[in-house]
Amino acid sequence: MRFLNRDVIVIGGGIAGLSSAYALLRLGASVTLLERNSCGGEASWAGGGILSPLLPWDYSDPVTQLTRLSTRLFPEFIEALKRETGVDPEYNSSGMLVVPHFSGDSQDAEAAAAEAWCTPRAFPMRRVRSHEIAPALARDEAALWLPEVCQVRNPRLLQALRKAVGLLGGTIVEHAEVTSLKIERTRVLSISTRRGDEYTAVDYVVTAGAWSSQLLRDHALKLDIWPVRGQILLFKAQPDLLRTIVLQGQENFYLIPRQDGYILAGSTLEEVEYDKRPTSSARKVLLAKARALVPVLNEGILAGHWAGLRPGSPDNIPVIDRHPMITNLYINSGHYRYGVTMAPGSAHLLSNIILNSPQPLDITPYRWPV
Ligand SMILES: Cc1cc2nc3c(=O)[nH]c(=O)nc-3n(C[C@H](O)[C@H](O)[C@H](O)COP(=O)(O)OP(=O)(O)OC[C@H]3O[C@@H](n4cnc5c(N)ncnc54)[C@H](O)[C@@H]3O)c2cc1C
Repeated sequence: MRFLNRDVIVIGGGIAGLSSAYALLRLGASVTLLERNSCGGEASWAGGGILSPLLPWDYSDPVTQLTRLSTRLFPEFIEALKRETGVDPEYNSSGMLVVPHFSGDSQDAEAAAAEAWCTPRAFPMRRVRSHEIAPALARDEAALWLPEVCQVRNPRLLQALRKAVGLLGGTIVEHAEVTSLKIERTRVLSISTRRGDEYTAVDYVVTAGAWSSQLLRDHALKLDIWPVRGQILLFKAQPDLLRTIVLQGQENFYLIPRQDGYILAGSTLEEVEYDKRPTSSARKVLLAKARALVPVLNEGILAGHWAGLRPGSPDNIPVIDRHPMITNLYINSGHYRYGVTMAPGSAHLLSNIILNSPQPLDITPYRWPV
């Protein structure tokens, strides 16, 4: 293994920034992470923590490759974090039940497409009746069962990562919004924050989520990352009401049960610039969808409602690369709907790029667009 004896500044303390900092610290780098507010307070906190694309067979190869790499890395990633920090991110293979939206021929076509994708990849999938897996559902119908899909309690994963970064000697500076990068010819010389502090390092990594393009201004080149609001409802139910993630595929609607009985119901996909206020119309729609799937999920046990801004990207393909002209500037951003799923894989690719180490997969699709 190669080691990195140099200073790195990471800009943005969501899952992408914290997992990048963690990977770089483990390789011997000195890392300073600058976060505008508090770490893990934006999309990474607001998300659901499903560790898979929703209908994996609907995505392109670059999404599949990166999520499969992350799936392989996740067990050891979580074990190390638990050992180092004592925080349990509740990583578990709760499985995902895909309930149909269509009837008759379309349903068979969806199942056939799923089988054609799953079988050659040895991705476990079985046709079942929905009540075999989730008796609390309103309807017993033909469904698809993906038993090895995992989930993680993302706020706890962030807590573990933040603690691990500190324990490994990383410096986290919160309430430090980076406002400008001082660039001379092909190198970043320093960065400045809103409160006037200046920081210098050998390498700089942008992990500012939905704000990444905005931060880089002209240096973003053709980077195409934009905010996509997602809203989630939280129910407090009996711990054994639901044991598996339930996805109503074409509706883009899912229920995620946590071990203590909380159930997340989401989400929405809304392009409303940087407005992350939850809305009463989304609340109504999500509540109706939740009740239609599992009737006991009603307003009486509603415990929360929030929204976050995903870093949207074309075809959900993140950019993980060195800047084409600025040799010490890197990015790991644009993970759109799957930033938690892709976190350890993306951090691994980024570290290899910085170290000039061989990659486990073709990284061409994640190049910085020019
Ligand atoms: C409702 C919803 C459901 C989701 N469900 C899932 C799911 O089930 N599974 C999954 O894998 N993914 C899911 N996602 C997507 C996932 O949450 C995102 O892809 C991921 O969190 C993006 O991580 P990030 O670190 O790039 O961005 P963020 O978490 O937004 O972090 C970016 C950080 O950068 C900071 N920052 C921005 N600008 C600056 C600056 N100038 N200076 C310093 N700091 C700055 C911000 O304050 C923020 O903390 C969901 C997202 C939402 C909203």
